[in-house]
Amino acid sequence: MWQNKYKKAITLSYDDGIKQDIRLIQLLNKYHLKATFNINTGLSDSSFDFFIEGHHIEHLSFEDMISLYHGHEIAVHTVTHPFLTNLSDREIEKEIVDDITNIDHIFKQKPVGMAYPYGSYDDRVVDCVKASGLKYARTVESSYQTIQQTDLLRFKPTCHHNDPKLDEIINQFFAYEGDEPQILYLWGHSYEADVDQLWDYLDNLFNNISGHNDVFYGTNKEVLLQNVSLDGNI
Ligand SMILES: [Zn+2]
Repeated sequence: MWQNKYKKAITLSYDDGIKQDIRLIQLLNKYHLKATFNINTGLSDSSFDFFIEGHHIEHLSFEDMISLYHGHEIAVHTVTHPFLTNLSDREIEKEIVDDITNIDHIFKQKPVGMAYPYGSYDDRVVDCVKASGLKYARTVESSYQTIQQTDLLRFKPTCHHNDPKLDEIINQFFAYEGDEPQILYLWGHSYEADVDQLWDYLDNLFNNISGHNDVFYGTNKEVLLQNVSLDGNI
């Protein structure tokens, strides 16, 4: 457990398994940061590519993902990225359990967490997540907090990686000298770096938050789950 050695941890979360993750991973690895990648195992085909403001958003092949995400965590984002709250219990279960099974099969590693597609969830969806055995599930609601959370199936990230309040939060995080463990949890999509021209911004951000001796840098499961050792085993 990182809390035995550190009082602060930083983790990142990126969704959708897309080609801009290649450039993002180069940045993460350059600064020795760790992230979790939430993927849809039913969309890894060019027919599911999409466009945002003229930018072609392509999904990665599983083959590319295996080598690319090495050293980071793969987590569930459902098979086909639906609004889960619109589905029946049976359909929700299938979207989650099939993604778990596919990830286990492809990456030889059973996922323990997920991110809700579109941030869409309710109590019924959470019950399905719980029944699937997953240990944490990330929403898209900013907590603007770095304190530890107890409801990990409704986990609220600190904020989006491009939030206007992030600078202030980072300053507070590094200035904190109390005894409560602190977690800075940022999330986003790597395609935003193309669409919103954020590559230089992300390079600066990652540079700022990396390399602090008193901070544990881990994947989501390493940071959020109590029973994970520092080498990522459960
Ligand atoms: Zn998504």
